[in-house]
Amino acid sequence: MGHIKALAIFSGGLDSILAVEIIRKEGIEVDGVYFETPFFPSYRAKESAFQIGLNLRIVDITKEMLSIIKKPRFGHGAGLNPCMDCHLLMCQKACEIMKREGYAFLITGEVLGQRPFSQTKQAMLKIQRECLCGDYLLRPLSAKCLPATLPESEGLIERHKLLDFKGRSRKPQMKLAQKLGIKDYPTPAGGCLLTDLEFSARLKDLLDFQLKAKPNDIQPRDLELLKIGRHFRINPQTKVVVGRNQKENELLKTLALPEDAQLRVISYPGPRVLIPYGGDLEGIKMAAVLAVSYSDAPKNRPVRVQVNYKGKFTEVQTSALPKESCKPFLISKA
Ligand code: SF4
Repeated sequence: MGHIKALAIFSGGLDSILAVEIIRKEGIEVDGVYFETPFFPSYRAKESAFQIGLNLRIVDITKEMLSIIKKPRFGHGAGLNPCMDCHLLMCQKACEIMKREGYAFLITGEVLGQRPFSQTKQAMLKIQRECLCGDYLLRPLSAKCLPATLPESEGLIERHKLLDFKGRSRKPQMKLAQKLGIKDYPTPAGGCLLTDLEFSARLKDLLDFQLKAKPNDIQPRDLELLKIGRHFRINPQTKVVVGRNQKENELLKTLALPEDAQLRVISYPGPRVLIPYGGDLEGIKMAAVLAVSYSDAPKNRPVRVQVNYKGKFTEVQTSALPKESCKPFLISKA
């Protein structure tokens, strides 16, 4: 048998590490690919790849994911996570690379039944059918529970060397890791922000409002902003982001664009407040109220707020609102 190379869709979690090692044990070289978006950044995958000496490429799929999130064929999970569509997209993209670059087959660390929706037998076979690689998609950890794939029937790998893991228990994986001498691996954390309900509420707001104003114009920084601060929707033109601590205030400063409005309370410690793309007058007034409400300024008298917008500094005088009265504007899962 000549030199064979497989391509792994590599998340960096234990399952994907094991999938790579099982195939490597059979003398097959493996390269990895990680599909990245701001919702699931690549640092964990990079770290794990480094530890096991895997050649990993990072491919950005943010644009495609945004279209899928807006209208997934197979629906969302509890948050805005379109898991079936996301798996399918990654498999399709990996298949393109496989075919273009001459990899013999494709592997993933998926385990049958580990996730209720996207890893049922039916779902896994559907993805296999619909992505362009069909029977070249091998899931080494659950292969014996699934129909034989081409790498098996063509003798590239022996079926009895593959595994029959299924279900949500992590014990078989941990036992195998011990057997293979794999000690350092990340805990199975839900690394995808799309499964976070608070984050999903903010993303939905962004898609509902900003996209209407600027179709197809969501910038990476707009997505980064969703990860920090309290977010308030004042009206269709105005969203207000209020820093919750020093670190977030610094980050807001770094992420601010010249076309944003920035506010800060004068003479008292308080949050950095940002209105992405400026908003309208009503919105700026309400942002000043929020800046005072979340500051250390006295709550019973007017306070001055500096507004930096379109290259000009102006001042607004306003009073705090009780936090309860700010809540109806808060973008949250409730
Ligand atoms: S949890 Fe996130 S990264 Fe994972 S399949 Fe679902 S949408 Fe994709």
